[in-house]
Amino acid sequence: MSGQVVQTGIAIGRVRWVAELGQVGVVKAENPAFELESLRDAVSTAQRQLEKLKEKTEAEAGKHEAEIFEAHLMMLSDPSILDPIKDLIQEESRTALSASESVYDQTISMFESLDDAYLKQRALDVRDIKKRVMGILSGDLKAEANADSDDKIILVAEEITPSDTLEVERKKLAGMLMMTGGETSHTAILAQSLSIPAIVGCGQGLNALEEGDMIVIDGMEGKIISRPSEAVIAEYEEKKAAYEAERDALRAFVGMPSSTQSGRTVEIAANIAGPEDIEAVLLNDAEGVGLFRTEFIYMNRTEPPTEEDQIAIYTKILKGLGDKPVIFRTMDIGGDKEVSYLNIGNEANPFLGYRAIRYCLREPEIFKTQISAILQAAVHGNAKIMFPMISSVKEFLKAKAFVEEVKEALKAAGKAFADDVALGIMVEIPSAAILADTFADHVDFFSIGTNDLTQYTLAVDRQNSEIADLYDYMHPAVLSLVERVVKTGREKGVWVGMCGNAAADPRMIEKLMAWGIDEISMSPTKVLESRKFVRSLA
Ligand code: PEP
Ligand code: MG
Repeated sequence: MSGQVVQTGIAIGRVRWVAELGQVGVVKAENPAFELESLRDAVSTAQRQLEKLKEKTEAEAGKHEAEIFEAHLMMLSDPSILDPIKDLIQEESRTALSASESVYDQTISMFESLDDAYLKQRALDVRDIKKRVMGILSGDLKAEANADSDDKIILVAEEITPSDTLEVERKKLAGMLMMTGGETSHTAILAQSLSIPAIVGCGQGLNALEEGDMIVIDGMEGKIISRPSEAVIAEYEEKKAAYEAERDALRAFVGMPSSTQSGRTVEIAANIAGPEDIEAVLLNDAEGVGLFRTEFIYMNRTEPPTEEDQIAIYTKILKGLGDKPVIFRTMDIGGDKEVSYLNIGNEANPFLGYRAIRYCLREPEIFKTQISAILQAAVHGNAKIMFPMISSVKEFLKAKAFVEEVKEALKAAGKAFADDVALGIMVEIPSAAILADTFADHVDFFSIGTNDLTQYTLAVDRQNSEIADLYDYMHPAVLSLVERVVKTGREKGVWVGMCGNAAADPRMIEKLMAWGIDEISMSPTKVLESRKFVRSLA
């Protein structure tokens, strides 16, 4: 069993299935007045519980996390939901339980049918309220589950709502597993801020887990081990203790400069996929965002995000990060990142195919909409634009010409935008690395993408586990290209960063520091570890 890790770490505990509500259906009431009274009582009980959860969350996780319950409180008393429930009770003599189920289900379906990924996730919030109100109405909701045992709990469900997480005593909650995805769900955000190892998108395989089973979540490797032996538990207890001690000790590096002992400084930035990562960037004290993979904004939808959608998302990120620099990589779609509505079609070699900048240059409307949104959002912060998969100078110049065209259009429309946004390229195709010297005459900056640079230099598919042993970014051929780019940047005064996974590997960092790199960018959780390593260098 495996899935997508949304919070790393190791958890050992017993499975607690989040109770699913049974279907109530249409049930007639004998006394509608009594049902209305029950509904009123249930809503006020829910209100009190939510207020308490809000206070508890504020104290344990912070004000921002507690806002989830503020939103739930508002939804709970929203007349557009409560009034139809009352109407069903009064006009159709339905029980409070039956009427609530119908109206909450309709609201959930309405949110689920929306295209906007963020709004879609709100269905989860309504589900949470439904579960709470119906739980109170049916007398099932227990205030504090598992109060009589000291075992750690691993919550398991098809979907886990924020209150499911918070109903469990914080000290006992060790981890979370969800069958479905939901990176932008509040549950994932909560797991991150509470530092609870969590894996989403685990699929139906979770059904094999029985209530009370001992399990281990290996959130470093993305593995779930069910019914582990004593020896395996002992092994993971050790790993867990080591991981936690290390993580706690790393907090000491917050606020410290990322400099070697002889005073060479590098900027340590974070890679992000959307606004939900802002917190992790701040929490881990990253000095900026070296790679915002904007293609994630285009995924899980049925049509491209509008310019307004994008301006809102980009502005949120820039404002959230204050004056920290943010490198927006324009949509890098194709390869393993499929977007059905873009009609890229099936290709024999998608990694060598119609993707990223190749697609954008031939679909100017999509490309220009994104550039326009970035330039407008850029008045709120420190944005740079980077083009992916550049293989020739001609491509960069074409992309740059689109930026100029968009600026003219914004000027003509009298819209506010940032005129001085730096334009750079990802160096992830060997030809770009080989021609670094020529590119340096045109671009404002380079960011080396070792994930692709390695696969293209060594002709090793980065996803094929059969040949994973051949995929090595420390291969001398890859290193020689990296060295060439960093040194060329130095000589010609062009800023150079690295945003591929190799940027967090101490072996690579040591070399990069010697060659004179300006920035390394990585998963937010690796930032403090890398700062510690940089500070240990001579
Ligand atoms: C890379 O190729 O190194 C990179 C950072 O981009 P991605 O992993 O998104 O292809
Ligand atoms: Mg890449």
